[in-house]
Amino acid sequence: MTSTPAGEGAAQESVADTIARLRASYEEGRTKPLRWRLAQLDALAALLRENGPALEQALWSDLHKAPAEAQYSEIGFTLAEVAAVRKHLRRWLRPSRVPAPAALLPATARTVLEPLGVVAVIAPWNYPVQLTLAPAIGALAAGNAVVLKPSELAPATARVLGELVPRYLDQTAVAVVEGGVPQTTELLAQRLDHIFYTGNGAVGRIVLEAAAKNLTPVTLELGGKSPTYVDDTVDLDAAAARIVWGRFLNAGQTCIAPDYVLATEAVQQRLGPLIATWIARYFGDDPKQSPDFGRVINDRHFERLSGLLGAGELVSGGETDAAERYIAPTVLAGVARDAPVMQQEIFGPILPFVTVDGPSDAIRFINAHDKPLALYVFSEDARTRRRFLTETSSGALGFGIPLGHIGVHGLPFGGVGASGAGAYHGRRSLVTFSHEKAVLSKPLKPDTIQLIAPPYTPARERLI
Ligand code: NAD
Repeated sequence: MTSTPAGEGAAQESVADTIARLRASYEEGRTKPLRWRLAQLDALAALLRENGPALEQALWSDLHKAPAEAQYSEIGFTLAEVAAVRKHLRRWLRPSRVPAPAALLPATARTVLEPLGVVAVIAPWNYPVQLTLAPAIGALAAGNAVVLKPSELAPATARVLGELVPRYLDQTAVAVVEGGVPQTTELLAQRLDHIFYTGNGAVGRIVLEAAAKNLTPVTLELGGKSPTYVDDTVDLDAAAARIVWGRFLNAGQTCIAPDYVLATEAVQQRLGPLIATWIARYFGDDPKQSPDFGRVINDRHFERLSGLLGAGELVSGGETDAAERYIAPTVLAGVARDAPVMQQEIFGPILPFVTVDGPSDAIRFINAHDKPLALYVFSEDARTRRRFLTETSSGALGFGIPLGHIGVHGLPFGGVGASGAGAYHGRRSLVTFSHEKAVLSKPLKPDTIQLIAPPYTPARERLI
């Protein structure tokens, strides 16, 4: 079902009809003027500014997300991204001159960013506001018609977005498709000009297969296990404070959360109690009572996560409550490399420590697995930092700080290998949702092409 403002007869519009309607608007040229793009960005900002309580309430209902956290990691985050793109859009859209080779002179060469057409944004449930609307910023800034597909696993947020987006944005060129797998499947069956998918790799493969039929370009923002290396050159208490924040934000359901810690046994022995102390400082002695600690999204994930708790030695947490889908912030030390918790992305409030004997062992371990979305290194040793920078590959690399890179609008956000393909944020979003058209302009006189045109002999007679 496609959302339209309450009470309008078009509420039952099929996905195919929605796409046809958006395409007609796009082809009419409605979305191309800078004026339209800026107006849509302003409308998106107004949507976020004027509906804080409704969005916060939906996020609480879906994820037990604290309003303050909803503001900085979703609503405020997306507002800042709108502001960053809006501020520079006019300049970023200017054609960019490149030098033409001497053999072609006189000539001017430039690149021009042009919209792609009708683009789809398919979003997951863990940051359902941010991950639906932040890609939309780039899509709108680039002058596309946009269809948004929020995740059915965050139903309250999907509903609010389905209601607000048509109220604020240009309904003739922006639509929300609500629903689950059948609706996403129907959406993927349409001819689209770009698909921007955020979610797990299994569905990423389905998206790629569907895109192949129409040769539709795709951005894949996927996940995986993001490692964190800690050595004894750092202030372990300060490192623990940041690791706990990054791991347990949104109850661990963050694509770039530190998934596991690689450290020597000696470091683990000192780090474990410090991490337990920081968990208590952030969430109290009983995190279940904390208004700031989230819940697991659904029963299926609760069961999956509960099954991962048995590994290693329990340092902190371990309690669960199925009725509330509560899993305490849990730390497990000395976890075997082949334990189930190390075989899949955890995506929940569990932090295993895996023993390594130093940076070389850690690098070997990381390189033996899929390229992660993020890698974090806590070390003051310049050589160790340089080694992680040059000897590993990941979507992003954070020294001394997990998650922070997502807030830097000038940094591309995306994965590599199994953690994704393509990137967005800031100018990169505009480029992702545009075609960079090559434009060459050469006056007809002087006709320098005669210098290389056939017949090729005799060469001397070919002067103009
Ligand atoms: P999800 O289950 O909400 O799925 C995402 C979208 O895919 C939804 O809109 C859903 O309708 C659609 N979908 C699901 N199954 C489908 C199918 N069979 N066919 C077609 N469409 C289908 O979210 P998820 O995948 O559980 O999200 C969690 C994953 O996303 C984790 O791996 C996480 O690391 C990753 N993630 C990545 C980023 C990033 O920016 N790289 C951000 C958040 C989450």
